[in-house]
Amino acid sequence: MSLSDIERLLTTSDPAAVDALYAEAAAVRDRVYGRRVFMRGLIEVSNHCRNNCLYCGIRRDNDLTRRYRLSQADIVGCCREGYRLGFRTFVLQGGEDAWFDDARLCALVAEIKREFPDCAVTLSLGERSRASYELLRKAGADRYLLRHETANRRHYATLHPASMSFDNRMQCLRWLRELGYQVGCGFMVGSPGQTLATVMDDLRFLADFRPEMVGIGPFIPAAGTPFANRRAGSVEATVRLLAVIRLLLPDVLLPATSALGTMAPDGRERAVRAGANVVMPNLSPAATRSLYSIYNNKLSTGMEAAESAADLRARMEALGYEVPSERGDHVGINSNT
Ligand code: SAH
Repeated sequence: MSLSDIERLLTTSDPAAVDALYAEAAAVRDRVYGRRVFMRGLIEVSNHCRNNCLYCGIRRDNDLTRRYRLSQADIVGCCREGYRLGFRTFVLQGGEDAWFDDARLCALVAEIKREFPDCAVTLSLGERSRASYELLRKAGADRYLLRHETANRRHYATLHPASMSFDNRMQCLRWLRELGYQVGCGFMVGSPGQTLATVMDDLRFLADFRPEMVGIGPFIPAAGTPFANRRAGSVEATVRLLAVIRLLLPDVLLPATSALGTMAPDGRERAVRAGANVVMPNLSPAATRSLYSIYNNKLSTGMEAAESAADLRARMEALGYEVPSERGDHVGINSNT
């Protein structure tokens, strides 16, 4: 599919063309992965952050955010609960918190891999040095999520402070790839300053980099940030983009993100019907979950991990999808690694 075909699909207002796009994207996903949706247990390890991204609720200068970090014992405890519930991938996500230095993180990753050798560990801890990514990979980390946020350099500079660099973020993605991680990138839909042209830059970048995973979700304003009063991105635009990303990268792992579930009660179902194949229920301890407030009203139902996993599983099964207790690696990757 050419980028001009994709641009047409993104902009058409013909409802029949949109329905056909979703059906086609779902069929491609079914052909590559079957009618299966993979679950990842998300553990939000810290909301301390040295960065000051203009959109993000846990940015350094947000005084409204009460800071926390989980201990290794807390995190391994979340994995234990997750394992019992059938999770075989754990995603450790957080702000760029210096407390999580290489020694602590490598010990944590190694401990999780020792106790759960049949599970994949995904890290989502922002920009680090190549040496750090290498140590973490050697300690057993399998995957890394680092959204590129926007592939347009000028747009990047309007979403981030001058201390952050577009080139460094892109360099980090290339390092992760070189080191043998399954790599995820992605962007927010409807972030301030985003245009059709910047979205086309994102899609061109995805087609070229060919990440194993792509995370996209609507921008949602966060209290206490410079973008607190900006308009949120739309569910429709996000679902449409998920579908074209599925066509662009047929074997990509594509989550129906929590931001989508926050914006619409049926957001994740709509995503799966348009080609998404991953859901990421929250395994963080209930006590800290509401503090990882990267945006307002973040889906944090107060449900225990067990309930939210069961709820999502039931919703997916109702749509006719199986939710296997498997790592759910990218099809191009040997899952015995
Ligand atoms: N510190 C890590 C993890 C960041 S949180 C990193 O730098 O990768 C994960 C993602 O949440 C971010 O990459 C961003 O795309 C998204 N996010 C942050 N603020 C948001 C907001 N206000 N609305 C929607 N998504 C947001």
